[in-house]
Amino acid sequence: MKYFFRHQIIDADDVRVDIMSPTVQYGLNVFEGIRGYYDPATQSLGLVALQLHIERLLESARCLNLQHHYTAQQIDDAIRQTIRANAIASDIYLRVVLLFDAPGSWQTDAPAVLLVVPVPSRPFDVQKPAVSTKISSWERINGRSLPPRIKAGANYLNSRLAQQEARQSGCDVALFLNTAGFVAEAPGSCIFTVCRRKFYTPSLTSSILGSITRLIVIDIIRHVLEANVDEVSLERVDLYQADEALLCGTAMEVTPVQSVDHIRYQTDAMTRAVMQAYHRFIYGDLALTYATLTRL
Ligand code: PMP
Repeated sequence: MKYFFRHQIIDADDVRVDIMSPTVQYGLNVFEGIRGYYDPATQSLGLVALQLHIERLLESARCLNLQHHYTAQQIDDAIRQTIRANAIASDIYLRVVLLFDAPGSWQTDAPAVLLVVPVPSRPFDVQKPAVSTKISSWERINGRSLPPRIKAGANYLNSRLAQQEARQSGCDVALFLNTAGFVAEAPGSCIFTVCRRKFYTPSLTSSILGSITRLIVIDIIRHVLEANVDEVSLERVDLYQADEALLCGTAMEVTPVQSVDHIRYQTDAMTRAVMQAYHRFIYGDLALTYATLTRL
């Protein structure tokens, strides 16, 4: 595999990061995960919401005051170079990271460097099984301490605590409440509920990442399903009273929720409709207003 590192494509084995870098020592980095779905019919790779991911990466760096020398255009170019260098003609997950490769403290003013890593992935399965979920005893990090809206590596320590707990109790995915006791998000995805054919999702001020897939799902609900979706404060009991629920994110894609705290949903009909539309979008058969597919 070839990676983009600093300013060029190099062999994966040649990437060197100092063990005393603040990225290794403190998890200081900002990153994006971007999916590319390969369409054998057109022999092209469709990158999902490329521009939005690049914008969010730059925004995360700005919020943490991380210095670096990359423009959006240069990051876009690095991603394209990585795909070309590896002659990618299959489904791919791209990890795009601004990190520190030299020794330094968490206060560093040194410039971060860009890393782009392609990770082989799978096509989207509209039949994928539903997952069980459980409210975590851990609270989501919040905007007064470590804002979940910034996509930083260190945030995932909070995710790890919750996900370990969920797995130990036999559930697939944890769900966080925020410090005010409202539903926030899962450790690596956002949540929607469906109640009497209306969708609900925690608002951006509920301690969630500004998920790009969440916006795609909102777009699909409004413009493809022609249904209502409200961004609200959701209580735990709203999850129990809902007819169905779904998780969404770049890695999670759109996934039905089978149960919350062992309370099972009776249907996944609206979720499957969202999944069908998501499938059309990522293979270039559906144009949306907010996100675009970049064909390479
Ligand atoms: N919330 C968290 C905590 C995440 O890590 C992710 C994955 N990036 C998401 C939500 C979904 O975000 P996106 O749709 O932009 O991938």
